[in-house]
Amino acid sequence: MTTFTTHGLTIQQFYSRREFLKVSALASAGFLAGCSVNPVTGKKQMILVSEDWEIQVDRQNSPHQFSTDYGTLQDEALNRYIQRVGALMVPHTHRPQMPYSFQGVNATYINAYAFPGGSIAATRGILLSLESEAALSALLGHELGHVNARHTAQQMSKGMLTQAVVGGISVYAGTKGESYGQLAAQLGMLGTGALLASYSRDNEREADYLGMTYMVKSGYGTEGFVQLMDMLNGLHKGNANAVSLLFSTHPMSQERHDTAVSLQDSEFSHARGMPLNRERYMDNTAGLRKLKPAILHFQQAEESMAKESYDKAETSFQQGLKIARRIMPAWL
Ligand SMILES: [Zn+2]
Repeated sequence: MTTFTTHGLTIQQFYSRREFLKVSALASAGFLAGCSVNPVTGKKQMILVSEDWEIQVDRQNSPHQFSTDYGTLQDEALNRYIQRVGALMVPHTHRPQMPYSFQGVNATYINAYAFPGGSIAATRGILLSLESEAALSALLGHELGHVNARHTAQQMSKGMLTQAVVGGISVYAGTKGESYGQLAAQLGMLGTGALLASYSRDNEREADYLGMTYMVKSGYGTEGFVQLMDMLNGLHKGNANAVSLLFSTHPMSQERHDTAVSLQDSEFSHARGMPLNRERYMDNTAGLRKLKPAILHFQQAEESMAKESYDKAETSFQQGLKIARRIMPAWL
């Protein structure tokens, strides 16, 4: 066995190149033990990582992302509320056994994300942009959709296969699901950037559909999903820096919005009049919304930073801080 490094990964080489190519041929034909049944579609697909791997990678990486986003919200009541809205949908998902968690994080840019083991977060920026509990459940439902359809595992498997084939990397092709095990272990250390890799447009379509399904089964009105799509579509057209990360990981399109509207009138028409719980959302986010003027300044500041307009950025930060100190002296 030899060890070498490629693409920043240390790879242990167990087999000769010739043996490896044989494995690659099998892998591309979909005959490896890594071929598993998708929990959502019931169809066989090439997934080279296990559920345990998804959970481990989540545990290793999600805490880093949460601290990069300035930690979970100090407002514990709001955090508990987000957790409750998410947890309501879990029994209706395709993988209710996953260790889900739902939280708000302090970052002011507009984003929401999911790690493959079920750790899901929404930033203050996006929480401020939502109008109802149903829209929050649509957002969390969409993220649940990514976890349930195993989109990260799919992306990682594709990446692993590409790495293996293109790089000529030898991997341990053992029996009983251990195929690519070593490479999977190495990729587990790749870090958050790769894990929050872009979803494809197909992934987005599937996550939208699953999100709508889960929220409706949990008793929310589909109008909440359409509200979310309206909001995202508006932001997408505005093309602001505060949403660039959101749209680079979750591609937005007019089609996503139109599909939601047409599903509301067809498959989910029975759920149109179901509750949106707008007031309950407003009550639970009252503290956060008090900070909205400050947060808008911070978003502006980040936008100026991205354009390297540092004077403007500093002015916006100062304005934001002034408002924040006035509203919530203990906050800073
Ligand atoms: Zn998405």
